[in-house]
Amino acid sequence: MNLPSIPYTHWKNYLAMIDTKKIRADFAILQRKINGKQIAYLDSAATSQKPKQVIAAITNYYQNSNANIHRGIHTLSVEATEAYEAARRKVAEFVGVSDTSEIVFVRSTTEAINLIAYSWGRLNIDRGDEIVLTIAEHHSNFVVWQQLAAENGAVLKVVPVNENGEIDLVAFKKSLTKKTKLVTFFHVSNVLGTINDVNNLSATVHRQSPKAKILIDGAQAVPHMPVDISKIGCDFYAFSGHKMLGPTGIGVLWAKREILSEMPPFQFGGEMISQVSLEKTSWNDLPWKFEAGTPNIEGAIGLGAAIDYLTSLGMENVREHETGLTKYALKKLQKIDDIKIYGPEDASKRCGVVAFNLGSIPPHDVASILDSVGVEIRSGYNCAEPLMDFLGSGPVARASFYIYSTEGEIDRLVDGLLLVQKIFKTSLQSNHPIILQR
Ligand code: PMP
Repeated sequence: MNLPSIPYTHWKNYLAMIDTKKIRADFAILQRKINGKQIAYLDSAATSQKPKQVIAAITNYYQNSNANIHRGIHTLSVEATEAYEAARRKVAEFVGVSDTSEIVFVRSTTEAINLIAYSWGRLNIDRGDEIVLTIAEHHSNFVVWQQLAAENGAVLKVVPVNENGEIDLVAFKKSLTKKTKLVTFFHVSNVLGTINDVNNLSATVHRQSPKAKILIDGAQAVPHMPVDISKIGCDFYAFSGHKMLGPTGIGVLWAKREILSEMPPFQFGGEMISQVSLEKTSWNDLPWKFEAGTPNIEGAIGLGAAIDYLTSLGMENVREHETGLTKYALKKLQKIDDIKIYGPEDASKRCGVVAFNLGSIPPHDVASILDSVGVEIRSGYNCAEPLMDFLGSGPVARASFYIYSTEGEIDRLVDGLLLVQKIFKTSLQSNHPIILQR
């Protein structure tokens, strides 16, 4: 039988399709009604929803294999240990890491960055040394370094971004000197959605400050696009499980083995020791040297299940789905009078995060009115106050998308925003200020 030839582009689009109807059936929470309206959850950049497969993996662990890990000889302990370490192998493979001893389970991106600062930072960054970061960092990758610099007299060098969140490359290059010890930047901005060319930025650091270490905040990247850490050329990479379908309380720090080997432990206690005597203690092998105490076993197992789920969809497809939604959202939102949208106009340069302001209407009021029609978005400074000050935007409203998001939900966001404008216009005309109950 001769099959008609189908252009590759057609196949590509076909293969890239994410079946949101099928996916949404896995997320019971999306059937919930808020204020009598079906939920439109547009806050996945804050945390993603969890599919039934992840919830089942956690339940299964507690119902069938719950025990403490690494220390028991009995069956349950062996099973729990195997499940926990299997999750580590899944994480490593998912982000292109071949050595699982470089994958440290932590609580979150925030904890990963604090671990680096406490352990590596305090050992390697002294008075007068320079830490380079961007103005668009999330607070967890800003305050940590600001505090370390305040404590030990290091110099914090803050590189500006343009209106689209793209790093000012001239200023970036200028900031890199012989004194630079650490350079850190976001992979994807949690406010503007901007995707940094992390490979190129890392190559620039290696050329200009070959001794500096590079830390990338991947909290908004790993959930949304293929990430191959081995190709980036960085030294540290951090991300959180809860933004990628996994449970809260589990995150990942990746660092090069030789760096982890030299770093002192972050916390002390069980699990992270090899031998303890009255006089001294020696440390466990990597990565357990950094996993003091009973870890978040269910969290790691849940994250493993989340990775299975994302892998079954294909991260290229996840990315393509979100780019399509972002394009659609930008097109629709741009038509609203008096809206100011932040971040790149080109959807291919950003992830599924769209921050905006609706004239002078306070973003919290925008979010409250949207909530009254079941549309859930974030509002405020989005943990990036230096960026918001720099852009002069003040607080913003932010909608963000994921694998289960649909164009229909974006239409509901747009309708909700028109309602917000109508309510505020009516209020101004009648001279009756609105008091929103929160
Ligand atoms: N960095 C970025 C870019 C983020 O978006 C977030 C979470 N909003 C974090 C760091 C901190 O993540 P967590 O709260 O999971 O530690």
